[in-house]
Amino acid sequence: MIAPGSTIGILGGGQLGRMLAMAAAQLGYRCHIYAPERESIAAEVSAKFTCADWHDHAALSAFAQDCAVVTYEFENVPVAPLAAIPAELLAPGTRALEVAQDRLSEKRFVEDLGGRPAPYAAVDADDELQAAVERVGVPGILKTRRDGYDGKGQWRLASASEAAGVRVPADGLVYEALVRFEAEFSVILVRGRDGAVRFWDSPHNVHAGGILASSTVPAPAIVGQQVPAARKLAQAIAEALGYVGVLTVEFFATAQGPVFNEMAPRVHNSGHWTIEGALTSQFENHVRAICGLPLGDTATLFPAIAMTNLIGEAAGDAAALLADPHVHLHLYGKGEAREGRKMGHVTRLG
Ligand code: AMP
Repeated sequence: MIAPGSTIGILGGGQLGRMLAMAAAQLGYRCHIYAPERESIAAEVSAKFTCADWHDHAALSAFAQDCAVVTYEFENVPVAPLAAIPAELLAPGTRALEVAQDRLSEKRFVEDLGGRPAPYAAVDADDELQAAVERVGVPGILKTRRDGYDGKGQWRLASASEAAGVRVPADGLVYEALVRFEAEFSVILVRGRDGAVRFWDSPHNVHAGGILASSTVPAPAIVGQQVPAARKLAQAIAEALGYVGVLTVEFFATAQGPVFNEMAPRVHNSGHWTIEGALTSQFENHVRAICGLPLGDTATLFPAIAMTNLIGEAAGDAAALLADPHVHLHLYGKGEAREGRKMGHVTRLG
């Protein structure tokens, strides 16, 4: 067990790190944030901050020496430089990052475990694109294998001719069929160092322009019917990775059953409702898991919960948002309300 009072290292300096650090503080831990950006909203609520490049070996090893355990709030941390941190300090391990950072290896990994992603084809070079589009069909979505998030690095193709002239980047693309889904949902689980697994209720997630707009609990009936199979896959992923901490797996609920979309080896935006809406939040249970403490109950506390992201200017009027007494407002302290930027969220209970 990593005792309260110890220092938890967090790689990444955004809002997920901020909410993790706040949960860690409640349990008496200190957090040390490592991020390349000078401004860090996670560092603002943490004991220490190392601002250094992801490839800075000396900075990473000095950071590791200060920490009893190191975790991530951002899944695209380059893996090779993490060799500067003793492997036994990292929770979850880097294998989870390697799988989740590459859409192709992620899909293959999940297929090997019996999961079903949307039909897809790998595209490694310009001259492979046309054949991939023909094989998978249209409409479809071209996605960069690496570094995509919040709908970035994605292009929808309505017809095969739209693929003409596309330049395939060095890391390659994946072309996948557009899934006709009834709803999107996520499985959020936590796995302890002893292998114990707990699931939160699966929220119904609505995206707008590739960015999560809202997560609501309970989800519609079709999601409820597909949660058992989705949980089985999510647990198999966690077990195959020897995973410790919170793991999120996103699915499409379709007439043919759950289709795997992607996984995040970390706490997730679709789990923010658990802060007020569940007996133990995803952030607290992540801290408990990585520190080897017993996991808290994940039961939902209210008959209906809706989490809405505040994107761009929407976060502007705190007093108006709080005029509803059932609303909890979370503002991340980001300076500039740029378009598409997650500034905060509100959770409405009951
Ligand atoms: P991603 O970053 O891959 O999760 O994509 C962001 C969002 O785009 C998803 O949550 C869906 O709303 C939509 N999307 C991505 N891939 C597909 C697909 N193959 N079929 C239908 N919608 C998709």
